[in-house]
Amino acid sequence: MSMDITITHTKNSKVHDVDFENLPFGRIFSDHIFVADYYDGEWQDARIEPFHKFQLHPATMALHYGQAIFEGMKASKSFDGKPMLFRPEDHAHRFNASAARLCMPDIPVKLFMTGLNKLVSLDQAWIPPQEGSALYIRPTMIATDEFIGVKPSQHYKFFILTCPVGPYYPKPVKLVAETKYVRAVLGGTGEAKAAGNYAGAMLPSKLAQDSGFDQVLWLDAKEFKYIQECGTMNVFFVINGKVITPPLYGTILNGVTRRSALQILSEAGYDVEEYPITIDELVAAYKNGTLQEAFGAGTAAVVSHISDIAYKDVMMTLPPVSQRKVGSFIKSTIDGLRSGRITDTYGWVVPVNEIVEAAVV
Ligand SMILES: *Cc1c(COP(=O)(O)O)cnc(C)c1O
Repeated sequence: MSMDITITHTKNSKVHDVDFENLPFGRIFSDHIFVADYYDGEWQDARIEPFHKFQLHPATMALHYGQAIFEGMKASKSFDGKPMLFRPEDHAHRFNASAARLCMPDIPVKLFMTGLNKLVSLDQAWIPPQEGSALYIRPTMIATDEFIGVKPSQHYKFFILTCPVGPYYPKPVKLVAETKYVRAVLGGTGEAKAAGNYAGAMLPSKLAQDSGFDQVLWLDAKEFKYIQECGTMNVFFVINGKVITPPLYGTILNGVTRRSALQILSEAGYDVEEYPITIDELVAAYKNGTLQEAFGAGTAAVVSHISDIAYKDVMMTLPPVSQRKVGSFIKSTIDGLRSGRITDTYGWVVPVNEIVEAAVV
């Protein structure tokens, strides 16, 4: 397999048409896209091209059988204007874990990293400068056999597209613990960032929104007892000073933000535990006044505070955001690492050009 990446520059950059102060999430796309195709058992024709639409055969397998996976990550600018990525290899490895579960080919980490690096380097003018804003990066793989029939495809397309996004200051979210539908079952695809997981979550999410909630809080599929995660975020609770997040059951996403938060908190001396907390324990903590914080953690928002959680006929209303020490500390630490305001002693924030050199060695 050749790692050479052909680059075709756009002749009409749109970067000057963008209002970087007012960026809707996920609707504006940068000038270039990275694409590679898998055929004859190898990744081939790796290229960066002007951003364009794909032409797909109506029988393209991903459209019918959902053999499709993605990642979500961010590039930001350091205080001196250098493009930086946050834990990019963690995302490459998780992408391959998702690929394995969906019976899709591995993408060599070196190809993933080189394509990512060259694309972000080329479109670095698209990285918004303010702390908290970023270039959101969406690596994706789809099955492209033109075939009606359920079997693993022989052809795949890998692509990376990017969108500039503004600082994400989400309102605290109101959740409802879901007691009818489930997101994932043990042995299923819940741990993969597989397209189909999100399709299955749309109806319960829509019903929750129709009842005045922002998102659902997923419970386990077997007993509707163990708290899983919410939307596209892992979930954390602070109970009586102790920080709790559900363990990686195999049904929840192994979040990079979750992993980062666990490490930041334990190094800062917090009492942190990956613990299979049940919804009944949460209600009990609420009732005895020890439930102090709840927040979601994921790349898009970093931290979303949770204002309320409904479960059956109990409505748990949490303390105001001004009292949320742990969630706010995580958000400001991760944003600060990304912007260079906080010195990165973890080796998580990687300058884009160093990755090229590292990957080429
Ligand atoms: C992407 C995602 C997360 C968060 O993962 P990060 O790596 O922190 O962005 C959590 N849950 C689900 C279902 C997700 O899709």
